[in-house]
Amino acid sequence: MPKVFTVDVSKCNGCYNCQLACKDEHVDNDWTPYAKPQPEIGQFWVKLRENVGGTIPKVKIHYIAQLCNHCKNAACVAACGYGAYYRREDGFVILDPGKCVGCRRCQSACPYGAIYYNEELNICQKCTGCAHLLDNGYKLPRCVEACPTDALGFGEESELGDFIVGSTVRLPETGCRPRVYYRNIPGRFIAGTVYDPVEKEIVEGAKVRATNGGKTYFQVTDEFGDFWFTDLAAGKYDVVIEAKGFEYRTFTAVDATADVNLGDIPLERPAEASGC
Ligand code: SF4
Ligand code: SF4
Ligand code: SF4
Repeated sequence: MPKVFTVDVSKCNGCYNCQLACKDEHVDNDWTPYAKPQPEIGQFWVKLRENVGGTIPKVKIHYIAQLCNHCKNAACVAACGYGAYYRREDGFVILDPGKCVGCRRCQSACPYGAIYYNEELNICQKCTGCAHLLDNGYKLPRCVEACPTDALGFGEESELGDFIVGSTVRLPETGCRPRVYYRNIPGRFIAGTVYDPVEKEIVEGAKVRATNGGKTYFQVTDEFGDFWFTDLAAGKYDVVIEAKGFEYRTFTAVDATADVNLGDIPLERPAEASGC
């Protein structure tokens, strides 16, 4: 039965145990015919991508574990002219080190950067799904077993349907049909702090709205004068801040293709209220 990996990004705490476990399992260990030893440096068959968004003090970090997707329509398999790749019944795409001639065509073809070249051995290498363990009675690949928060999961595709529904895969447009499913990847954020420059104090309870493509989101500044719009779709937003006794403050076309900290935002009082 086909197996899949799952990654719940909201559970990942960035401990790097998955990366370390993969190294522990594969560096200096020859699991031929599944894989030759992984070099100590330069290869990460599972790699933690750290995403840092915003600017100090409004920063959010999340981590995304990435590994070979064991694609249903794998570009690497199609690219290899030497029959070095094969797909197992459990769905793992394996690169036979005995057949690889080091031409690196598969490496160029994989849109996920999952394949590494081992110069010393003149072969390409990648995640094996720890097939050598599963074939010997183990239930989980090492990276999944090592994850302390259950951010990583593994199992029968048919039994993980609840996770898969509503999940996403990396670069679906490639047509490779990846088999590593992700949930809870945070969207973009727009944040800021609203304050009164005359009284030199924050403004609590200011109403903030962000609009993009006909959708409007609402926030109210907290006791620190802060607002955070989170999980936004990437795009440009018009942000309007409204507070009693102050002029409106507007930011047009805020570019939230990356996370945005609008910083400390002073609100002006109307001319008559300031006595000018
Ligand atoms: S992620 Fe890359 S190496 Fe892995 S199966 Fe897909 S195309 Fe092949
Ligand atoms: S499944 Fe095994 S080989 Fe693949 S990334 Fe995890 S530990 Fe490494
Ligand atoms: S082991 Fe789990 S929690 Fe730790 S970095 Fe990897 S995926 Fe995240």
